[in-house]
Amino acid sequence: MLITNHVLAGAALGLLVDHPGTALAVGLASHFALDAVPHFGVPREHLMRVAVPDGLVGLATIAVIARHTPAHRRLPVLAGILGSCLPDLDKPGRQFFDRSPFPDWFDRFHGGIQHESARRLPLEVGAGLALGVLLRRSLQRADGPLPRVFTWPTGSS
Ligand SMILES: [Zn+2]
Repeated sequence: MLITNHVLAGAALGLLVDHPGTALAVGLASHFALDAVPHFGVPREHLMRVAVPDGLVGLATIAVIARHTPAHRRLPVLAGILGSCLPDLDKPGRQFFDRSPFPDWFDRFHGGIQHESARRLPLEVGAGLALGVLLRRSLQRADGPLPRVFTWPTGSS
């Protein structure tokens, strides 16, 4: 799955929680959920032709999201993005250092859930646009109280 779509999903989920740790965990879970869905992907020898533009678009997307997220919601949103992107550190790790930063069992699990096809680019772009629209609408309402799905127990009632 394109990293840009992981960024968008992680940000949307980060908006729904009030604690950065929860957002990180939910973002991490979203990575594997999205990777398990049939998605776009190319063989490793063509990876950089996709990864470079995708990485740049993903970074620009993070900057735009951070700019448009109210300050009091920014940390959970960025934590959601971090969690949603973290498992794909194996790609730059292998490309630049010839090794993944993760243990073998983690990489086997991550690789085993992939259902990639180079013919699914339109589906991937469509999913990204849908996630972008969802996130934009959520950000427009982010100043007010949102119905938070995952709330951190505060101990007070
Ligand atoms: Zn992945």
